[in-house]
Amino acid sequence: MRPKIAVIRGDGIGPEVIDATLSILERIVEADFIEVRAGKRYFMETGLPIEEGGMEKLRESDALLKGPIATPTRGRTYSSVNLRIRREFDLYANIRPFKSYEGISLRRMNLVMVRENVEGLYSGEEELYEDKAITKRVITRRGARRIAEFAFRLAEDEGRSRVTAIHKKNVLKLSDGLFLEEFYRVAAMHPGIEADDYIVDAAAYRLVKVDDPFDVMLLPNLYGDILSDVAAGVVGSLGLCGSAQVGDNYAAFEPIHGTAEDIAGRGVANPIGTILAASMMLEWLGSRYGLADLAQVGRRMREAADRTVRDGILTPDLGGGATTREVAEAVLDRI
Ligand code: ATP
Repeated sequence: MRPKIAVIRGDGIGPEVIDATLSILERIVEADFIEVRAGKRYFMETGLPIEEGGMEKLRESDALLKGPIATPTRGRTYSSVNLRIRREFDLYANIRPFKSYEGISLRRMNLVMVRENVEGLYSGEEELYEDKAITKRVITRRGARRIAEFAFRLAEDEGRSRVTAIHKKNVLKLSDGLFLEEFYRVAAMHPGIEADDYIVDAAAYRLVKVDDPFDVMLLPNLYGDILSDVAAGVVGSLGLCGSAQVGDNYAAFEPIHGTAEDIAGRGVANPIGTILAASMMLEWLGSRYGLADLAQVGRRMREAADRTVRDGILTPDLGGGATTREVAEAVLDRI
């Protein structure tokens, strides 16, 4: 089977890090890459957040590789492409691995965050009154249960030993209470994996304060959004971290960083996060379609990216002088 991979290059540094990653992928995998135009820049040019027929192109593909997309802060007519993709394909699990590099990272860390991706404060349920605005924080039993199941399965598949649920149950008694209740119910069905929980503010402190702070973290949407930037800071740069948004039938892979307008167009963005996201994509495609070779290439890509960083081939965010292209070439050499 020859996978069909949709590609959204995105805004800001998106096209730079995506092109660098494609220059590797095109050399190591047999796949069709189908560009789908979307994002803020495309919207400014055309008035459309995503090209006509773009969602169909995604539906016909096996996975999506994407760069960061900016959301215009003004103009009510823009509907977020990110949210639309998440909802349309029900990409309920956001997976973010954080692995430290000796000599670069502030602390030793090798953890995976499993962030609930479609509920919580990002429910999209908002009401505006004359003198107040309300955003509903929705946590359903089904949503809490399936994300907990996902986290325990991931721990088992990766040979990890503990899943820690992050919450603020002392204040958000009902919603985080329900999240925790489902977590422990699912934990009881996975006796081989330890289960515990941590209050979100204490978890933020622990992430920066101690080595090996967590193994697998399970987080409601907003906590996952915020704590993943904390973890990226500890690892050394937002540019070093990749992510997967996974549903039962489709998945999207992207770096965790935003559009980084401050450095866009200069050819110095760190492509490692996007390269790691692409390696997760190959592993996911490999295991979904039983393509062992593809999964193997994905692992090699990840190891080559790690080795490139350890060999000191670094972009300016990590104090180096390499360009985006040079880092990509170094990764390809190591594959
Ligand atoms: P968003 O709201 O979309 O997350 P943001 O502007 O808050 O966007 P980023 O775009 O992720 O956050 O950028 C935060 C900082 O990290 C910026 O100074 C940016 O230059 C830096 N940064 C982010 N990604 C990279 C990268 N790949 N390489 C180098 N620096 C990066």
